[in-house]
Amino acid sequence: MPLPVHSQPPLVTVDDPVVEHLVAQLRRVREDLADAHGAVIGDARVVHALTTQMWAGLPVPGVACHATADPLRLRAVSEPVTCRRCRARSHTGSDRIPGQTILAVEVGR
Ligand SMILES: [Zn+2]
Repeated sequence: MPLPVHSQPPLVTVDDPVVEHLVAQLRRVREDLADAHGAVIGDARVVHALTTQMWAGLPVPGVACHATADPLRLRAVSEPVTCRRCRARSHTGSDRIPGQTILAVEVGR
């Protein structure tokens, strides 16, 4: 017999409105960058490779070379990655999708 839905505790409890606002901002940035090939930091022209990093238990977008730790400064772009450090660290344009976890799929069961 399944438990009623309303009896389940929330997965994340956020009481502080400042933290709640920040979490909402981070989620939005992550969604904005989910389909991007790369990102620039602020108004810079160097295109960095996107990756996902953990911040306070939340998966947030980041750049492979760690040029910034602030995901709110990232802007999605469709141009190819030009950052040499990012290119050296990651396989750009491959199967890595920012904001998404790659799940192992069994084929032929
Ligand atoms: Zn970079």
